[in-house]
Amino acid sequence: MLDQEITAAIMKAVDAGFYDQISLTEELVRFPSVRGAEHTAQDFVASEMHRRGLAVDRFQVKIEDIRRLRGFSPVHVSYDNAFNVVGCHRADHPKGRSLILNGHIDVVPAGPLDMWTTPPFEPRREGNWLYGRGAGDMKAGLAGCLAALDALSRLGYRPAADVMVQSVVEEECTGNGALACLARGYRGDAVLIPEPMWNKLICAQVGVLWFQVRVRGVPVHVREAGSGANAIEASYGLMQALHGLEEEWNARRKAFPPFDTVEHPINLNIGKIAGGDWPSSVPAWCTFDVRVAIYPGQEIAEAKREIEQRVCAAAQQSCFLKNCLPEVVYHGFEAEGYVLEAGAQPIATLEAAHRAVFGRDLRTIATAATTDARFFGLNAGIPALVYGPTSEAIHGFDERVDLDSVRRITQAMALFIADWCGLEKR
Ligand code: ZN
Repeated sequence: MLDQEITAAIMKAVDAGFYDQISLTEELVRFPSVRGAEHTAQDFVASEMHRRGLAVDRFQVKIEDIRRLRGFSPVHVSYDNAFNVVGCHRADHPKGRSLILNGHIDVVPAGPLDMWTTPPFEPRREGNWLYGRGAGDMKAGLAGCLAALDALSRLGYRPAADVMVQSVVEEECTGNGALACLARGYRGDAVLIPEPMWNKLICAQVGVLWFQVRVRGVPVHVREAGSGANAIEASYGLMQALHGLEEEWNARRKAFPPFDTVEHPINLNIGKIAGGDWPSSVPAWCTFDVRVAIYPGQEIAEAKREIEQRVCAAAQQSCFLKNCLPEVVYHGFEAEGYVLEAGAQPIATLEAAHRAVFGRDLRTIATAATTDARFFGLNAGIPALVYGPTSEAIHGFDERVDLDSVRRITQAMALFIADWCGLEKR
């Protein structure tokens, strides 16, 4: 437990560096680090870590290193630009408990630019909000990890245990970046991931599956459309059938606490669609990409079976498709759900830090999304705390993060580090 004097000093030190922290966050937002283009942002993160005296390990994510590990997600994309960066502080005489601070550098695509008030990769401040793609999810949190350590430095301290700051790729599509950090051997006594969580702690997260449904048709000239089979229109029926499965899974939530109290934990999203070649030809093909959640404890293999059966049953309604069954192909997320073990040691430490900053108890939330926390918890038995600032419109237009919340979350993180790892004089 930190005494009042050091608590106040640490919080003040975060305030003193907050201008620089915002600048660092803005710098990060300027990098359009969408999938496949994360490398320049990672170069920048590496230089920021180096400048702080952290030992920097920059390495490429290699499928070969992770394909046999629990939680690996298959991919069809190149990892040529997929570099993780880990900045390590290694204590001379470790006394406290070690810590991994983890954040992802990848952001989701910005969508049609004309729907943004200002360009997504030009950070903009308005009142208490910082706007930009990735500002909330989760560059503010990633910058906050470094800023929390900066605050301790400013007071002449450093953690009395090893602290590893991980900037990872692939969180938004597979989690293979965080998995590669585990494969490389990084371990700690706790993990803290400042994802945008509205100042709350995730106590449970769903798993996520991505799959693509490939539908065939019979191409004919539109004048004889009746003799063809329209792959695009047939897909609508399959989508409806999948939404039926979504509702069945939601109805099962009583069996999966803490999701029994969540209104609609399982969301199925048709996120992408392509098909056809010509307005006057009945389309011979259509593919659509789906994201669906699964409960912690729900078997991935069994979930896949249910998905395939549902697609197959819906295909029986079409005289063409029942003889030419749609294919279900998996690439991207194959993520299990994860429940943070109640009473895990670092939770009490975070609760104390949160209370000192916010003046009220830390609230927990079961989220209908996944995070990289699952790898640390499930693969390595390391309690992984996901706790971060308030943000709005993540994955949407005009994504923004609340800077006052960022400041307070950073204070709580700095207090957490000081309490969990202990402090030593620089
Ligand atoms: Zn995120």
